[in-house]
Amino acid sequence: MAEAENKHKEKSPAGFRAGYIAIIGRPNVGKSTLLNKILGEKVAIVSPRPQTTRNRITGIRTTESSQIVFLDTPGIHQSHSLINRRLVDVALQTLDEVDGVIWLLDAHDKIKQEEERIAETLCGVDTPVLILINKIDLVSKGKLLPLMERCAQLLPGKEIVPVSALIGDGVDILLDIVEKWLPEGEPFFTDGEYTDQTERFLASEIIREKVFNLTRQEIPYGVAVTIDDFTEKDEKNLIVIAATIHTERDSHKGILIGKRGAMLKEIGQQARTELEKLLGCRIFLELFVRVDPNWTENPNLLSEMGL
Ligand code: GDP
Ligand code: MG
Repeated sequence: MAEAENKHKEKSPAGFRAGYIAIIGRPNVGKSTLLNKILGEKVAIVSPRPQTTRNRITGIRTTESSQIVFLDTPGIHQSHSLINRRLVDVALQTLDEVDGVIWLLDAHDKIKQEEERIAETLCGVDTPVLILINKIDLVSKGKLLPLMERCAQLLPGKEIVPVSALIGDGVDILLDIVEKWLPEGEPFFTDGEYTDQTERFLASEIIREKVFNLTRQEIPYGVAVTIDDFTEKDEKNLIVIAATIHTERDSHKGILIGKRGAMLKEIGQQARTELEKLLGCRIFLELFVRVDPNWTENPNLLSEMGL
């Protein structure tokens, strides 16, 4: 026991805090922008441990005094079919296990049924919750106040902070609040810790995100992405990636490919740009679409996705 305590002291200064924070919010509210602001340009990539593959680590901020591991919790914003039930279960479980939850809203947003449902969920967990109202650079105070009041009604007693993730307004305040939630302890990750497995996983998540962002009207949930080839060509500073997008329906295949392949091209381009930035090398990305009517019931695919 004494030995363990000494070890702890050697590794981290007294009072060092470390923990996990989930960021939730529907697409386009500014989650990625906020993380980029918090982390600077550098996004830390770490090995997905079994418990984190389901909840993608989107970034790690380590300072002299603390380490915050930010998690994405897929599922909280979707609700249908078997896969979604599992995703929602995982998401809810995550909210109980993390040290805090940040709920990001867009200042233009109206509170609708989905937001009410999430607020209800957040009221039911013991985890601390911070509500961030983002994009305040775009709205007047007169518009902001009613939304803040509505949030205060829905989640009584929770802190609400208006921010601009793009400009950085309010970001220091949010970091101060979140840091206080973290328990004292050693950092979970050291700098630069990552593996090939991580990069493959990251590639599939990024492709899936682009599919979702670009097609969410037409394809509410139903795709999975697997990485079929991931080859590093060190001499050329290049990674060759081949990936398959699995979908349940023929009609979705048409949407994913688009007119003369335009949609698939756009998905590929956006994913490639983000991956090049993250991995710091050139990426050659080849995408395939496969109709797989039962992928949401396919245990192999689900376990590949960490579900
Ligand atoms: P995500 O889907 O939640 O990750 O959202 P993104 O971070 O991709 O942001 C969606 C869009 O909103 C992008 O065009 C961002 O530039 C924009 N955005 C995010 N935060 C702000 C903000 O604070 N102010 C303004 N004006 N735009 C923002
Ligand atoms: Mg994003």
